[in-house]
Amino acid sequence: TLLVVGSANADLVVRVARHPGPGETVLGAADLVVHPGGKGANQAVAAGRLGARVGFCGKVGDDAHGERLAAVLRDAGVDTAALSVAEGVPTGVALVTVAEGGENTIVVAPGANARLTAREAAEAVGPRVRVVSAQCEVPLAAVRAAALAAPRFVLNASPAEALAGAEEAADVLGRADPLVVNEHEMAVLLGRGEAGEARPEDLLRLGVRSAVVTLGAAGAVVVGPDGVAVLVPAPAVEAVDTTGAGDAFTGALAWRLAEGDALPDAVGWAVRAGAAAVQEPGAHLSSTACGKLLGPRS
Ligand code: ADP
Repeated sequence: TLLVVGSANADLVVRVARHPGPGETVLGAADLVVHPGGKGANQAVAAGRLGARVGFCGKVGDDAHGERLAAVLRDAGVDTAALSVAEGVPTGVALVTVAEGGENTIVVAPGANARLTAREAAEAVGPRVRVVSAQCEVPLAAVRAAALAAPRFVLNASPAEALAGAEEAADVLGRADPLVVNEHEMAVLLGRGEAGEARPEDLLRLGVRSAVVTLGAAGAVVVGPDGVAVLVPAPAVEAVDTTGAGDAFTGALAWRLAEGDALPDAVGWAVRAGAAAVQEPGAHLSSTACGKLLGPRS
């Protein structure tokens, strides 16, 4: 099975004509919308809807947001035995404002996510888990514990800034097979200012066994342990909302690796899941999109 270790947030989204400046108040252009989110929950839901046997290890607060997130995970077929509730702590929240033209600003209050412990993460890696997939929105001590207990570890280094200078970084990167990053995260990890200067092959210098760099509409580059980089193009689609594309990508990738696919084949599935995610609003991959992706089943 697949185990996703990571964050669960309530995304509180308001559309605005333009973003406020310091000290300024602007009225929303529409009512507040609450979406389930957090990279960990997004990836687990994507994998679950694609048919993966998947569990989620994370932490929510004892509030309505936490209850809704648990329900969304279960509805997607995700095992929530390792989802715990932190008493007296709010569920993680992302405050999102979307301006006309689509540009976002996001402030995250980690809440319960910040309370996930190394012990909880290690204990969630049961004997049937083949692949553990984690991101960097929960404490790195928990990510490290999951990485060390995992038969195979997929690391989505997002946000990449969380790894910079952290004492756990070497262990976490050393277990990553693959490391999954977008171009911005690659530039942060390689210490380059401009994404254009960094090459996917250079990621192996971080100690990772393999790497995958997502390139938006262009698809993704896979770098195997031999250091050879191969481009996997994404299908041409009309993008409506790119939120969560990377999460659908990584969820699908981890699912296929847990099913025993080779890395390039798993990335083939991942680019199609990412392309499906941008064709619809919201961060979660819908059941309809998954149905199309999987095709008619015999
Ligand atoms: P992130 O959302 O983390 O920044 P990317 O923008 O690189 O990541 O997108 C992740 C994946 O989603 C890509 O590798 C691709 O498969 C898919 N994707 C993203 N944008 C598009 C697009 N405009 N058309 C088709 N596929 C896309």
